[in-house]
Amino acid sequence: MADARHSGIGMTSARTRERLVQRLMEQGIKDPRVLDRVRNVPRHLFMDEALASRAYEDTALPIGFGQTISQPFVVARMTEALHGSTATVLHNVLEIGTGCGYQTAVLSALVSRVSTVERMQPLLERAKVILKELGVKNVRFRHADGSLGWKAHAPYDGILVAAAAHAVPQALLEQLSPNGGRLVLPVGPDGAQELFRITRRDEHFVREKLGGVSFVPLVGGIG
Ligand code: SAH
Repeated sequence: MADARHSGIGMTSARTRERLVQRLMEQGIKDPRVLDRVRNVPRHLFMDEALASRAYEDTALPIGFGQTISQPFVVARMTEALHGSTATVLHNVLEIGTGCGYQTAVLSALVSRVSTVERMQPLLERAKVILKELGVKNVRFRHADGSLGWKAHAPYDGILVAAAAHAVPQALLEQLSPNGGRLVLPVGPDGAQELFRITRRDEHFVREKLGGVSFVPLVGGIG
C-alpha cells in the first residue's frame, strides 16, 4: 500500500516524473545525482492531496501557513550549486527553511548528514512524519530562527537557505567550513531576489551570482 502511494499513478506516475526530469535537463540541470533525486523523491507526498496531481509541474505550490514548496527547478539548481563538481561529496549540510521537507529529502541521499531548521513548528512536525515514512534517517531537525544557523554542528561544508534574506546573515558565514564551505541562498527584497553562492577559503568569501529567483522571505524569530 505504502509502495503504491510512493510510486504514484496517473499524474504522479514514473512517466509524469520523467517529463519533469527532461524539462530540468533542458533548462540546464546536469548533475545526474540531482536528476535522480527529482526522479525518485515522491513530491506528491509533501503536499495536500488536492494538489497532488500538480506535483510534477515545475512550479511552487502552497503548503499552508502562507508558505510554498519550492519549484523543482530551483531545488535542483540550488542542490547542484551546493555540490559544485560532480566528484564532490558533501558530509555536513545545514538547511534553513525545512518547509514541507521536499528539499531536505532531495539533499538527504546526496550528503552524509543534513541538519535542518524551520521557524514554524507545524511545518517541521509534518516534514518529520513524511521523511520518516520515506525512510530518511540522516536528518536532524530544529525549531528555531535559522538566520542564526545551528552552531552546535558547525562547521558545515554546505549551507542551503530556502527563504530570501535582505542581507547575508553573518552567523551563516561564520558557520561555513573555512576549507571551501559553500553557502547557497537567495538575497534581496520581493520581486528582486538573486541567488548567490558564497564560497569560503579561510577568511575570504567569494560570491557568485546564479540568477533571479522568487522565495518567501527569511523571517526573524520563531512562529
Ligand atoms: N525547502 C522547502 C521550501 C521552504 S519555503 C521545500 O522543499 O519546498 C521556506 C521556509 O522557510 C518556510 O517554511 C518558512 O517558514 C521558513 N523560514 C522563513 N524564515 C525562517 C527562519 N528565519 N528560520 C527558519 N525557517 C525560516
